[in-house]
Amino acid sequence: MVRLTELDHLPQGLLERPASALHHVLDGPTLIHLEGRIKKPLFVSVLQHGNEVTGWEAVRRLLKSHYDFDRLPRSLSLLIGNVDAARHRLRRLDDQLDYNRCWPGGKYDDTDLGKLFQRVTDRMRSMSPFASMDIHNNTGLNPHYAAINRVRSKFLRLASHFSSKVVFFTIPKGTQSLAFSEFCPSTTLECGQAGQVHGTDHSLGFIETCMHMPDLPRSPVDADEVHLFHMVATVRIRDDVLFGFGQVPTDVTFHENLDELNFRELPSGISLGEINGGPQRPLIATDVNGVDVTDHYFRFDRGQLETTREIMPSMLTLDRRVIQQDCLCYLMERIHFEDHVEGTDHDPLPEGFRRSDRPGRPSGQR
Ligand SMILES: [Zn+2]
Repeated sequence: MVRLTELDHLPQGLLERPASALHHVLDGPTLIHLEGRIKKPLFVSVLQHGNEVTGWEAVRRLLKSHYDFDRLPRSLSLLIGNVDAARHRLRRLDDQLDYNRCWPGGKYDDTDLGKLFQRVTDRMRSMSPFASMDIHNNTGLNPHYAAINRVRSKFLRLASHFSSKVVFFTIPKGTQSLAFSEFCPSTTLECGQAGQVHGTDHSLGFIETCMHMPDLPRSPVDADEVHLFHMVATVRIRDDVLFGFGQVPTDVTFHENLDELNFRELPSGISLGEINGGPQRPLIATDVNGVDVTDHYFRFDRGQLETTREIMPSMLTLDRRVIQQDCLCYLMERIHFEDHVEGTDHDPLPEGFRRSDRPGRPSGQR
């Protein structure tokens, strides 16, 4: 049974603990409200994945520098997520659900965790946050980027303060930023690999910016400031496929530097690896509706895992556990948003995308 703790102060000694020692001070997911000069709070979520410690490191440094000496420039509502997994330096424990799939609107609404995050969501909605950020790391070589769930000026503006690379996604469901996008500008930050000071510095700078900013302007974001990509598919390796990286005798041998393809716009005909045996279609790509679109993006008939159209992968990783628990990668296509974004609250998507090709439709090719 997992329970939410809600506090209006920092527990004694909290800031002295690295993520793996938070369990000495916290029982589980904890929502902490700290008052600042500007009342509308910034919501910051850290450690939804227990081994992704950058968010906690950034918040620790922020609070150490502000909390003892003066008031915070803005109120802060901090959610510290999966303390148990953090203790073991894991994304999640084997008997746990993925925290960032259990927010309202996903398929776990009826679970204990789903109800807990419903409470957090209701609570924060009532406080009308200035903005929301959920801080993550990933395991492959990825640039830092921000992800948003709505293509609106305020969301783009918020994200652009972190990175010029912005990803729009609506899958997977049940994520924190998607749930909060209903009532405030929200973003998910991907801060590269855990433990890199550069990632902590970057996210700390972004939090500080948000803490001091009086409001997010509604004026349109300049197209030069933001490169926006749309997540069009999730790629998984079939459970019955034996796979490896580099020179190993398995059904599928991926290139050993596969993750160097992250955020590269690839032409068609690029091979991700060799097929030596196993099922005919070792990968499964599904679109935002869960429809199998594998043949839209890949061909497997020449002993290779080959792309069949221009595509940009993200989150490619060499970490088997992440691949098995989550996925091999996401596929993205560029969105030319500048003609479509509006300063109003009307969501301009999905009509009006200017992509060369629309995913998710049955393809007549091959
Ligand atoms: Zn994560």
